[in-house]
Amino acid sequence: MADAQYDPDNIFAKILRGEIPCHRVYEDADTLAFMDVMPQGDGHTLVIPKAPSRGLLDADPAALSALIVSVQKVARAVKAAFQAEGLTLFQFNEPAGGQTVFHLHVHIIPRREGVPLKRHEGGMADNAVLAEHAARIRAALEAEP
Ligand code: 5GP
Repeated sequence: MADAQYDPDNIFAKILRGEIPCHRVYEDADTLAFMDVMPQGDGHTLVIPKAPSRGLLDADPAALSALIVSVQKVARAVKAAFQAEGLTLFQFNEPAGGQTVFHLHVHIIPRREGVPLKRHEGGMADNAVLAEHAARIRAALEAEP
C-alpha cells in the first residue's frame, strides 16, 4: 500500500496559515508551539515544524533538528510554568500509532507523581483557561536564560 500523502488542509496547517486560532506560546522561523485544545493535563502543549510533513518518517532532517531544539526550549518553560516534577512527551505516527492530526507534532505534558494523564482527545478545555496557561508558559520562556 502506498504511503499516505500530506494534506495541506489539516488543522495544524490551517493554524500555521492563521486560518484558525490557537493559544500560541512560542514561534520562530521553523517551528510553532501552542496549547492543545483537548489537554491530557494542565499545560499540555504541542510543538510543530512549519515545514509540511505527516509525521516523523517523511520529515526533512533539518526540520526535525529545528523541531527538537524548540521542543527542549518549550519543555523547559512548560516544566517551570507548571512547577512540574516531570514531563511526558508523545509523538504519534499514522492512525495505527494513535495519530489523529496529520501534521508532525510533539506533545509536551507536565507531570506530577500520582496524577494520571487524562484521556487522549478527552474533552475541550475552557478557552480562558488555555489563554491563562499559554500566558504562563510565555512568561516562563521570557524568563529562560
Ligand atoms: P495526535 O493524536 O495526532 O498526536 O494528537 C493531535 C492533538 O491535537 C490532540 O491532542 C488534540 O487534542 C489536538 N487538537 C485537535 N484539534 C485541535 C485544534 O483545532 N487546535 C489545537 N490547538 N489542538 C487540536
